[in-house]
Amino acid sequence: MIKILLTIIALNLYLHGHAQILKKNIPDKLIVLTFDDAPASHYSVVAPLLKEFGFGATFFVCEFPPNYKDSSLYMNWRQIKALDSMGFEVANHTRTHANVSKISQTAFNAELEYIEHKCDSLGIAKPINFAYPGYGLSAKSLEFLQDKEYVFARAGGSRAYDPLVDHPYLIPSWATHADNKSEILAALNQAQEGNIVVLTLHGVPDIEHPWVTTPPELFREYLQFLSDNKFKVVALKDLQTFINVDEAKRTIGADLSKSLKN
Ligand SMILES: [Zn+2]
Repeated sequence: MIKILLTIIALNLYLHGHAQILKKNIPDKLIVLTFDDAPASHYSVVAPLLKEFGFGATFFVCEFPPNYKDSSLYMNWRQIKALDSMGFEVANHTRTHANVSKISQTAFNAELEYIEHKCDSLGIAKPINFAYPGYGLSAKSLEFLQDKEYVFARAGGSRAYDPLVDHPYLIPSWATHADNKSEILAALNQAQEGNIVVLTLHGVPDIEHPWVTTPPELFREYLQFLSDNKFKVVALKDLQTFINVDEAKRTIGADLSKSLKN
């Protein structure tokens, strides 16, 4: 009898703990699309296609050195503002695509604040989420993000995001490129049983970084697959509907031993 009671108490604690991190159950087929580095194709190819399918997305922008002023390669800030006006999330990828594991807090803050001020000056919603340039991160970077009150930070790792296990500053993702269609399709099927699948995309196409390019035809194929199979495709900020982020940060340890790079 006591054993049964103890089991019930343990089960209650277990369920209660979950209820605190999750505001709502994570539905199956929940996908987060994220786009890094502000290549020109995010404005010319990606945004119109996402609108056509009615999908949300997060754009992690930076001024990628040294050629960000070349509008054939990168978006300008008028175009980034247009993404915000279209309802997409504009988020922070540092000013200079900095490896934030190697810089001081002062330098990190300056990198973040440049993008924040740029957004403020253009009437773009304040960036609340972050993606680690080059997947460079350290325990210190997490502290710096917390001081700046960022909500989520996306890494790599090629695995699904379990909000009950993964720290909100260590959100794993898969990265697409020209040759990993079967891997990405298999990944999408992992969006079930409480797991969320986050994809990282670069240019569609990516002219300066061809090793992370996604051909426009392949990108359209992914969107068609997501639409045909009734996936729910959202921006990273939309996960706040499901996740009590403060509680997740309080109760989940930041495990830096897991794979966090793509
Ligand atoms: Zn990047």
